[in-house]
Amino acid sequence: MPLAPSLLPRLIQAIDNAIAANAEEVTALDQAIGDGDHVTNLQRGIKALAAQSDELAGLDWVAAWQKIGMTLMTAVGGASGSLYGTLFIAMSKAAREQPLDLQTFAVIFGSGVDAVKQRGKADAGEKTMLDVLIPVAASLRQAATDSVALPEALANIAQAAIAGMESTRDMLATKGRASFLEERSLGHIDAGAKTSQLMICALVSVFVEHLASPA
Ligand code: ADP
Ligand code: MG
Repeated sequence: MPLAPSLLPRLIQAIDNAIAANAEEVTALDQAIGDGDHVTNLQRGIKALAAQSDELAGLDWVAAWQKIGMTLMTAVGGASGSLYGTLFIAMSKAAREQPLDLQTFAVIFGSGVDAVKQRGKADAGEKTMLDVLIPVAASLRQAATDSVALPEALANIAQAAIAGMESTRDMLATKGRASFLEERSLGHIDAGAKTSQLMICALVSVFVEHLASPA
């Protein structure tokens, strides 16, 4: 089933709802080991995307991801702004004007996550959003290699995101502001890992609904 950018307004709305519904919880996480601005930063970006959603719906994926990346880069700020911006700009660069299926998307998303690793000079196990993004990229790659059916692939992706988010609780932060706390970062989930998981699960829910009743 090829997915088109006409789905973007629904995807952006779902992300907006998921972050709003968990705003207090995530802010508390970021207050514990960061500076408490992560949700505000992210919501600035989401609002900017929502304002562009009709325009984005009319683009192809290459142009849409480029525009999303540029918008996040300028609107979000903080460490997460340049990292999410980098993710989408790299996805745009990796994409061709081909129909989007699981196989092509797995490669495109993998390139995006690699670019985030480079930009953040970070890898798995450092208590960041990458502890969600890396397992999600691996789950996508696995689904593509094994030609897993889409509903099962989506369920696996959501599970990988949740497990990745949970795994940050017992990690020592070695990147970003939380790293200043050293051992005191232990016992808290990373705010960026939590919002990445929430956004990925929100996207998965829209895709699941769309599969059930394509409209
Ligand atoms: P800031 O830390 O500049 O205030 P935010 O609060 O918006 O920015 O985002 C913080 C989140 O960004 C962290 O919770 C973490 O997930 C992520 N992050 C910070 N530094 C890095 C990095 N070098 N690599 C990957 N992710 C990072
Ligand atoms: Mg912050």
